[in-house]
Amino acid sequence: MATNLTRREFLKDLGLLGAGITLAPAAVSGADIFDWDSQKTPVLNRPSWVNTSAVPTMEIDWDKMERWREWRTTRGSFAEYVGKERDDRLTKLQTENLDRWLKQNKPGYTLKDRALGIATGQGAGAQGFLQPKDVTTPEKLGVSKWTGSPEDAAVMVTAALRHLGAGTIGFVELDPRTTEKLIYAEDPDKKVMKIADVDQPTEDDKTRVIPKKARWVSVWTVPMSQETTKAAPTVLCQLTTGLTYTLNRSIQLRLQYFLAGLGYLGLGEASTNALGISPALGTMAGLGEMSRLNRLITPEWGPITRVFKMITDLPLAPTKPINAGIMQFCKVCKKCADFCPSKALSFDTEPTWQVRGPWNNAGHKAFYEDSTKCRAYWRQVGTNCGLCFTACPFGTKNQAFFHEFRNALVSATPVFDSALKAVDDWLNPGPANPELGNPFKDPEKWWKTTNLPIYGINTSTGVSEI
Ligand code: SF4
Ligand code: SF4
Repeated sequence: MATNLTRREFLKDLGLLGAGITLAPAAVSGADIFDWDSQKTPVLNRPSWVNTSAVPTMEIDWDKMERWREWRTTRGSFAEYVGKERDDRLTKLQTENLDRWLKQNKPGYTLKDRALGIATGQGAGAQGFLQPKDVTTPEKLGVSKWTGSPEDAAVMVTAALRHLGAGTIGFVELDPRTTEKLIYAEDPDKKVMKIADVDQPTEDDKTRVIPKKARWVSVWTVPMSQETTKAAPTVLCQLTTGLTYTLNRSIQLRLQYFLAGLGYLGLGEASTNALGISPALGTMAGLGEMSRLNRLITPEWGPITRVFKMITDLPLAPTKPINAGIMQFCKVCKKCADFCPSKALSFDTEPTWQVRGPWNNAGHKAFYEDSTKCRAYWRQVGTNCGLCFTACPFGTKNQAFFHEFRNALVSATPVFDSALKAVDDWLNPGPANPELGNPFKDPEKWWKTTNLPIYGINTSTGVSEI
C-alpha cells in the first residue's frame, strides 16, 4: 500500500487488499468472505453478520404505546409547535433562499437541479388505501383464490416485490396487544383508521376501515441513490427522496393489483407516510435497526432508503427483528448528531423513554429528536436536508473490503466501535464549507458522472442466481 494515501486511495487499496486475500487461491469477491445466508429469515438473503433476534434492539413498552396520530408529527403540526409568526417567517425565508440560490447558480440549486426535481415527481401511479376497482380477481377468471402456506406466501410476495422494485422485504403479523399499535389511529389527512370486524375495507370522508381479518403487513425498503443523497441538503438531494416516493407509488399500486389477482386485500398508504409507522414496522420485520437518527438503519443501505408497507388478509409468515450491532454502535458514534446543523439529534449515550416533544410517540426507548429544529432548518435551506444520513458510516455502498470488515466486526462485538468510528471520521469527514445550504458532496461532480448505477442504487445487493 502506498504511503500518504488519500481517503479514496485508502478505500481503494483496502478493496484491492480484500481482493488480494480472496483471490488466493480461488476468485471470490469480498462479499463471499461474509457470505449471504438464506437461512437467516424464511425469505431474504441477508449478510451473514446480520443476526435475527426474538426482540428488536430497541426496547418497547407495548403497554405504554398507543396508536399514533400521524398528523402530530412536525409534518402535520409544525406551525402549531413553533407558532404562526415563526412559521410565516420561515416560509418567506424558504422562498427567498431558493430564488436567490437559483439566480446565483449555487451548486445543487441550479436550474437543472430544479428541472430534474420537477421531473422526478412525474409519472407516478395512482395512490390509494383501497385497491383499484378494475382489478382482475380469480373470480373474474373463473378460478379459486390462491392458497398455500404462510411461508410459501411470504416467498412468493418477496419475489414479486423484488421484481416490482423493492429492496428488502419483511412481514409483520398484527396483534392488538403489540404490533397493531403501529398502525396509525389517524392518517396524515386526519381520517380515523378504524380496525373493525367487517368483511371488506371501506373509506369515506372521515374514516378508513381495515377489516380485522387483514392481519399481515408486508414491509419493504426502496433504496435511494447514495451519490445524490450525499449532495445534501440541496434540491439534488431532495429530489432523491421525491424519486423514491414516485417509484414506490408504482410498486404499491402493482402490489395491490397482484394481491387482488390472487384473491386477497391489499390496503396501501393513502398518501406519503400514511397507514402506519414505517421505521417501527421495518424494525419489527427485521429490515433494520432503530438508530440515533430515530429512523431505521438497514444492513444493506444504511439509512439511505425509504420504508413502505401494505396490509393484507393473505397470511404471511412473519420475519424476525435483527441485531447487526447497529443500535449499539450508535451509542458511541454520535456522528450524525455532530453533523446536524440544527442540533436536532440526541447526544445522549443511551436511548431514553423520555420524549422530546409532542411530535414523538412514546412507548419505545429511543434517541428522540427535536423535530422542530430539524424542520426549521429544512425551511431555511428550502429543501429537505439529510446531512445526518450522509454522515452515517453505514450509508456506504459496502463494496470496499473495509466496509464488509467493519460491518462484521460491529455485529460481532462493540469493543472496536470507537476505533471503527475514528477510521470512518478520517475516510468520511464533514463538508469542506458547512455554511447554510452548502452541499456535503459537490452536486456538479454528480452531474458530470454518466456511468452510475440505474437510479444510483446498487441493485446487486443480496442477489442470487437461478
Ligand atoms: S435532516 Fe438535517 S437538520 Fe434534520 S436531523 Fe438530519 S442533519 Fe439535522
Ligand atoms: S451516524 Fe453514527 S450515531 Fe448516527 S445513526 Fe449513523 S451510526 Fe448511529
